[in-house]
Amino acid sequence: MKTVLCSFCLKSGILCQKCSGRVKSGEITDLDLKIARFLLSLEEKYPSLQNVYFHKAIEAGKTLAIIVGPGDVPRLLGYGGKILKAIGEETGKNVRVLEYGVDDRKFLEDLFAPLSIVTINTIWLPDGSTETRVILKKKRSSQPPFDVKALKEIASKIRNVTLRVEFTD
Ligand SMILES: [Zn+2]
Repeated sequence: MKTVLCSFCLKSGILCQKCSGRVKSGEITDLDLKIARFLLSLEEKYPSLQNVYFHKAIEAGKTLAIIVGPGDVPRLLGYGGKILKAIGEETGKNVRVLEYGVDDRKFLEDLFAPLSIVTINTIWLPDGSTETRVILKKKRSSQPPFDVKALKEIASKIRNVTLRVEFTD
């Protein structure tokens, strides 16, 4: 488990001046601390977590998004999904794992997995702002396997984009 915080501070929970400055400035939130420390506690059981870089945790409704370093997503999804299950049980949320620093398309693919994306395009509104329209493939009869409203909120918080989500079969 790697973060911007010193590993000593993360482990002890007692923050040095530098780390507590990051908390005070809002760079690190209480939620970030909580999730980082929980992931740290799972390291012994799931050693692949040792190499995961934890960037941020964002919540919206009953959904929690965890943003990790490039290439780290499989390390969290491994062990037959047991890590995600443990985080879900700890927090009571549906957990999505997203990769830091990816392009918009990859971000949206990860956000809306396991549904696949048919089209992404930009809609220009009369006031000059834009919305990103995402059309997802889904059978008419089935419910989406995630909370669309929460994922839109997460996209807005992480990428500052306004999504318009539609479905097609
Ligand atoms: Zn520190």
